[in-house]
Amino acid sequence: MRKSLNNNNLEKKKKFFIENIARFCDKCGQPYSPKDLEIIQDTNMSSIIHFSCTNCKSNHIATFIKPIGISNRMPINTDLEIEEIGKFASMKETSLEEILEVYMYLKRRKEIKV
Ligand SMILES: [Zn+2]
Repeated sequence: MRKSLNNNNLEKKKKFFIENIARFCDKCGQPYSPKDLEIIQDTNMSSIIHFSCTNCKSNHIATFIKPIGISNRMPINTDLEIEEIGKFASMKETSLEEILEVYMYLKRRKEIKV
């Protein structure tokens, strides 16, 4: 098995995420293209993907749970949140519970802010 992804594989992965998570921006309906995606984490269990819209600049973080093929997406406001998730994800392989924890954490923060 190859250790690193070449660009072609990365492009294929991003297309897979677009098809399976979100084809269009939630806010303005702009279709996503692979360059709008950044894969923050990718393990055998799950993937965390950052979607950014080139048109309206809205950002979403999505998780894709591979064994059950379920994805979840939420809007984020700042680059800081992306960083937080990235930091969290890079600490170790993230388990399902941990991903849910991040979600709940960001959700709580959102609720406080609004
Ligand atoms: Zn948009």
